[in-house]
Amino acid sequence: MTQFIFVTGGVVSSLGKGITTGAIAVLLEKRGLKVSIQKLDPYINVDPGTMSPFEHGEVYVTEDGAETDLDMGHYERFSHAPINRYSNATTGSIYSTVIRKERRGEYLGKTVQVIPHITDQIQEAIQQGAQRGTDIAIIEIGGTAGDIESLPFLEAIRQFAHKLGKGNACFVHLTLLPFLAASGEMKTKPTQQSVGKLREIGIQPDILVCRCEQAMTSEMRSKISLFCNVDECDVIQEKDVDTTIYEVPLDLLREGLDDALVRHLGLSHTRAGDLSDWEDLRQRFASPEGVVEIAVVGKYIELHDAYKSIYESLAHGAIHHKWKVRFRKIAAENCVDEDPKTLLGGVHGLLVPGGFGERGLEGKIRAIQWARENNIPTFGICFGMQAMVIEYARNVAGIEGAHTSEADPNCKAPVIDLMKEQESVEDKGGTMRLGAYPCRILPNTRLAEIYGRDMVLERHRHRWEYNNDYRRELESAGLSSAGIYEARGLVEAVELTDRPFYLGVQYHPEYKSKPLEPHPLFATFLSAAIAHSNVDSEESNNKVQA
Ligand code: GLN
Repeated sequence: MTQFIFVTGGVVSSLGKGITTGAIAVLLEKRGLKVSIQKLDPYINVDPGTMSPFEHGEVYVTEDGAETDLDMGHYERFSHAPINRYSNATTGSIYSTVIRKERRGEYLGKTVQVIPHITDQIQEAIQQGAQRGTDIAIIEIGGTAGDIESLPFLEAIRQFAHKLGKGNACFVHLTLLPFLAASGEMKTKPTQQSVGKLREIGIQPDILVCRCEQAMTSEMRSKISLFCNVDECDVIQEKDVDTTIYEVPLDLLREGLDDALVRHLGLSHTRAGDLSDWEDLRQRFASPEGVVEIAVVGKYIELHDAYKSIYESLAHGAIHHKWKVRFRKIAAENCVDEDPKTLLGGVHGLLVPGGFGERGLEGKIRAIQWARENNIPTFGICFGMQAMVIEYARNVAGIEGAHTSEADPNCKAPVIDLMKEQESVEDKGGTMRLGAYPCRILPNTRLAEIYGRDMVLERHRHRWEYNNDYRRELESAGLSSAGIYEARGLVEAVELTDRPFYLGVQYHPEYKSKPLEPHPLFATFLSAAIAHSNVDSEESNNKVQA
């Protein structure tokens, strides 16, 4: 029988619930347990696919083509839990199912209400998310205790846990112990109040994970324990990490979270796992051999979360070589008015991530041109790859008016064009080419060398594509096609084969990189950038000597 852990958050949002949830999964998997993870989000969008990255950060795409919350990325990076379209439900998806059922007459004769119909549907979603054969299902509830919109979710998990019976469900509540600089102390009152909010609706947390800037004193622990009705050994400190979020599983193990979960779920038949791989990773992060600087030129650059998986994957690639990566975040629009050299000079690699719409595109194209002409390792992803194709078409192949019809529907040479099957699409939600498709890697390419395989599965999220009408011209000008989706003859990757790394991919490899298993494209991009940084420093040494 599957046991359940419910993770709620209190006091403020952005406490890192997704990371804590991922870390809990690590601890349980290390005990040999099969874990699934799910997130229930209280907003009304059916999924985050229609939200701007400024609203919600990156949209994370699953293997089966769902557009989900970026926490799914944390779950996949930390654990081996299967993440798919059932892993993320929202108020919007729950309501739309209930309303569909109502129209079909499934509640015939009844008044359809939040309780029991919505709360029942939430419980059905939880059942569905806990995949078959799962020992422990972890359910993270988005939002903060006390929000109006999360109430039905909290009521649903209360009922669900009640039905499971004691010992089969565990409530973990993540809170904040704010530090008041003026009085030089940390405060427990917000935690007490947030636990009070949960208790009002009938949820008594079993374990409190307390985010704090500084170590919690034993007096604070006793106070929290007494006023929140939680044993002292279940008050777990989660101090801000020094170097990397990938320390969190180790920190929570040390602070006793693993033991607490074992006590509450009766897991003493399992053995505490060996986290030496995570320890090794922590040490690599703590003592890198060098720092490599990567420019990320994008439209949503002000918000780190907008390119979350990209930054993480770059960090994985660097740490694989025992290096640390520094990001130079550049707003694409700035590359139009300013000389790219001033903005990009000195970087060891350029990454252009995915994006939508005209704004910033010309800046990306200029940045790419500068990087190509200066032999900087360059990696284009999705819109970034499309920008690489446009740049090459305009500046090397001499294709006049080369553009994407996304930015200019009447352009003379749409080297990137809307996919045929997208022409009739009207709804915006969930209608792009989404999820994993097989890509055949062409022989004698850098891509083939990097993957060491001739077929890969990578995830997509786009409506426009490389226009095959220009393929011959682009290839004979030197831009090789390196990966093909054979069923449609669609070019999925382009490269300059004679460069260490000048590569654009239509898909999103950043969704498949993990700290312990970096994606080969990111690992190789970083090794090219590191090599370039060495050339750079040799050149500047030579200049100094001369
Ligand atoms: N806007 C481009 C398209 O729809 C690229 C999408 C992306 O970068 N995810 O094809």
